[in-house]
Amino acid sequence: MTTRNLFLLPGDGIGPEAMAEVRKIIAYMNEEMAAGFTTDEGLVGGAAYDAHGAAISEADMVKALSADAVLFGAVGGPKWDDVAYEVRPEAGLLRLRKDLELFANLRPAICYPALANASSLKPELVEGLDILIVRELTGGVYFGEPKTITDLGNGQKRAIDTQVYDTYEIERISSVAFELARTRQNRVCSMEKRNVMKSGVLWNQVVTETHKAKFADVKLEHMLADAGGMQLVRAPKQFDVIVTDNLFGDMLSDVAAMLTGSLGMLPSASLGAPDAKTGKRKALYEPVHGSAPDIAGQGIANPIAMIASFAMCLRYSFNMIAEADRLEKAIANVLDKGIRTGDIMADGCRKVGTTEMGEAILTEFKTLSA
Ligand code: NAD
Repeated sequence: MTTRNLFLLPGDGIGPEAMAEVRKIIAYMNEEMAAGFTTDEGLVGGAAYDAHGAAISEADMVKALSADAVLFGAVGGPKWDDVAYEVRPEAGLLRLRKDLELFANLRPAICYPALANASSLKPELVEGLDILIVRELTGGVYFGEPKTITDLGNGQKRAIDTQVYDTYEIERISSVAFELARTRQNRVCSMEKRNVMKSGVLWNQVVTETHKAKFADVKLEHMLADAGGMQLVRAPKQFDVIVTDNLFGDMLSDVAAMLTGSLGMLPSASLGAPDAKTGKRKALYEPVHGSAPDIAGQGIANPIAMIASFAMCLRYSFNMIAEADRLEKAIANVLDKGIRTGDIMADGCRKVGTTEMGEAILTEFKTLSA
């Protein structure tokens, strides 16, 4: 039987509450579908700091590196606001991204029909929306050197950030985007600022060459990133897969995300390069939201972002496409029935807590899988 090794890092605040609902789905899939998941669990963020004095222990890093996929909850909270910078909760997530070399960040923006009215855009613009933003995560201006603030001695200071991209970085992120497009509507829109940035010129060239060499069957379009931002709020349904750099991706994925409603709904995946021997990619799946200290411990957090992150894990790490489709459909059906956590509550709907939402989705998933 296939074994699939999952390493669970629930983290802090609402992280463990949301992860508990995913654990029930894993247990069901093992019992009824012989899915063969083995799970191990570690500490990250404030929880790891309290236990080990670090945002993630070396032992847990080893487990993360050897797992087929890492499921991550959320980290942080006021309790750890004053801990040293190197061991702050977020350092655990950054360490994981760095050591697992997770260079591709996938953020879907899906608008469930039942939530179209909750968008800040007109329902007809967002209903049925299904975009995937592929953001380069380990290069660009967030990491480029020099990165300094210099005192110029005349009452002025000078701040420098450096936008750097090498050919291989653009080639590998655009390859991920093209590959994913083939599993969707087969269209990629690449966004950069080639009109004012050299990195944009190279980005455009390398994406074009990669397309020509390996992915000519996929439809490729180029758009300036500022025009892309405008198009995302004007007519978002025109896009299928968008590929862009770290900085533009950071902003554009947040814009796209908010087209679809609450933070409690948004999953994400971060992928590394395929292993030369096994072809498997290192991968980490996490909700976009944080640890929500304001509602932690009350049993009212929306577990959908965490459950949808697990659906991404089924799809991208284990190629369990039918199961991922069913789990996403289960979420849509539960929303159609008017079941809502507080963050997405609307008139005429029934308000439930974390456990009830998780169980409603599991029940629906079981029905769809029967
Ligand atoms: P947050 O995402 O935790 O919360 C923002 C708001 O959205 C809060 O009002 C919260 O109650 C609500 N919210 C978030 N997720 C929800 C859910 N699933 N269900 C219902 N409501 C939800 O962001 P924040 O308040 O800026 O940060 C809180 C802590 O989380 C900080 O310590 C921050 O550093 C950390 N953080 C961690 C991550 C991560 O682990 N990847 C990401 C962002 C923030």
